[in-house]
Amino acid sequence: MTDDYRDHGPRRVGQVKEVTSLANPIVKDIKALSQKKTRDETRTFMAEGLKLVIDALELGWTIRTLIYSKAAKGKPLVEKIAAKTVASGGLVLEVSEKVMASITRRENPQMVAGVFDQRWMPLRDVKLSTGQTWIALDRVRDPGNLGTIIRTADAAGASGVMLLGDCTDPFSMETVRATMGSMFALPLVKATVAEFLAWKASSGAQVVATHLAGAIDYRTVDYRRKPVVLMMGNEQSGLPEELARQADVLARIPQSGRADSLNLAIATGVMLFEARRDLLKLDEPT
Ligand code: SAM
Repeated sequence: MTDDYRDHGPRRVGQVKEVTSLANPIVKDIKALSQKKTRDETRTFMAEGLKLVIDALELGWTIRTLIYSKAAKGKPLVEKIAAKTVASGGLVLEVSEKVMASITRRENPQMVAGVFDQRWMPLRDVKLSTGQTWIALDRVRDPGNLGTIIRTADAAGASGVMLLGDCTDPFSMETVRATMGSMFALPLVKATVAEFLAWKASSGAQVVATHLAGAIDYRTVDYRRKPVVLMMGNEQSGLPEELARQADVLARIPQSGRADSLNLAIATGVMLFEARRDLLKLDEPT
């Protein structure tokens, strides 16, 4: 399988095309990116909105296709990203609002969208240093949760997000939307549980796993001792024994009321900002 975005006969990079037909094959290919199978095959994905596209380009992501609706034509920022896209060999599509609505599956679509190459960091390239916090998510299933976690991780100064086992796709439209651009700022890693455990053994990481039955209050953990991997369990079933057993700390966020647990993204936010609060002490004069 090539990682090239699908081609239609003659090379069509570095051009600007006007498209008004929903039957246009390039439009059909972009729409097919709503399916994971197509994203996996082409190793691309779509991000909507001018801010996200600018963020991605500024952070060096490779754009394959820039799509903008006619109403955005002539706007200086749009012209700028169109020129950047053409200069990097990408395709620029100027489309009707009807085509934009169909591509983004929204009645009131954004005026700009981009198709980008996916990017994964290999687990072996994750080298930890003091003061770093990574997140490891066990089989996260909900795209909104994953997007919110990536956004929160970025805001809390985390170093990256690891997806363990069968996780929802970070490059789905729903997840990308929920990240609000943060997915372009943080490395994403995917690994099996076995790969993660093998990596952990020599990584120097302190794995702080969160668990409803954790014996340690999350506010008493020393997040400064070693680089931290915050491990979070699946929405329905929590952390499996295999991962809980291998954690260095099993931490619990004390709750009151009738809720039996916190939402996964909320729990991750609570943990991230507690780790950050502790880590900021590293910068304080002693
Ligand atoms: N029924 C699941 C269970 O028994 O673990 C609930 C999973 S909870 C919705 C998803 C994840 O969020 C948990 O696996 C854990 O990582 C984290 N979490 C939620 N509430 C927590 C709490 N009060 N203390 C520690 N972790 C919590």
